Amino acid sequence: QSQLDSGLDETKKSWASRWQHFIANFRSVDEDFFDDLEETLIKADVGAATALQLTDELRDEVKLQNAKSKQAVSEVILEKLVNHYEAQGINEDTAMHFAQNGPTVILFVGVNGVGKTTTIGKLAARYKGEGKKVLLAAGDTFRAGATQQLQVWGERDGVEVVAGAPNSDPASVVYDGVRAAIDQQADILFVDTAGRLQNNVNLMQELEKMKRIISRELPEQPAEVLLVLDATTGQNALQQAKLFKDSTDVTGIVLTKLDGTAKGGIILPIRNELHLPVKWIGLGEQVNDLQPFVANDFAKSLFG
Ligand code: GDP
Repeated sequence: QSQLDSGLDETKKSWASRWQHFIANFRSVDEDFFDDLEETLIKADVGAATALQLTDELRDEVKLQNAKSKQAVSEVILEKLVNHYEAQGINEDTAMHFAQNGPTVILFVGVNGVGKTTTIGKLAARYKGEGKKVLLAAGDTFRAGATQQLQVWGERDGVEVVAGAPNSDPASVVYDGVRAAIDQQADILFVDTAGRLQNNVNLMQELEKMKRIISRELPEQPAEVLLVLDATTGQNALQQAKLFKDSTDVTGIVLTKLDGTAKGGIILPIRNELHLPVKWIGLGEQVNDLQPFVANDFAKSLFG
């Protein structure tokens, strides 16, 4: 069993039992059938808007294929769902972007506890393993212990962490980080930020200030602003993403803690409604528990 398979275990089990229940209730293809289908999708954390859209597509497909028997209908629907994931995967920019010249700066944003620091620790190990010189900047000067937590990852990964005093201006830490990255000819600088509450204007302004400082030293950077979302929070994660997207230029999503939740269905509305590519998925707390998001593999693991 692959890491992805076992990581998605809870989501798979929950989807399978909902699906079995849905199919067990099959009488005929009528409006009740599609109502039940929509409800099944909503319960699988696909969200109301995406469930409605998918149900419309599935209704068309079932008609088009003239599927009538339980077997035929379920095949049509499952195939269409897999296609839906795959089509999105093909159209999406799931790769990490790197600067042409000089260090690449990647900013991590998201509310407290979603897994920003952990994701940075995992990615630092990965890129260092690929032979890149990686630096970390502890831009979360707000939460007690955040800097220290990043330093623990830095020691573990063998990468330098640029940090400031507690409650110091995060923008100055970011500036120091960028200067260090340039001076040391680093390939990548990962910047941790405070868990900004999306309705907190000050914190959003702070984020914009960080971005200005970065782009003053390194034009057209940060190369990525990755929004980290906790899959276990389900529809709340979607709400967070909407607010962040409205107030800053997010370039992609890291969806963490898929291993501890049955709510993996949330990945569909994130992509479908926000049009933000999921770039990485977190499947555990350990350094290797992070994978690039591959739509085909995800769909196969979920429905396969
Ligand atoms: P931050 O406040 O956004 O920096 O979040 P942290 O990186 O401190 O993570 C919060 C908690 O979530 C920690 O206990 C992490 O070990 C845990 N965590 C992060 N990513 C994952 C994941 O993919 N799976 C699981 N199971 N736990 C995770």
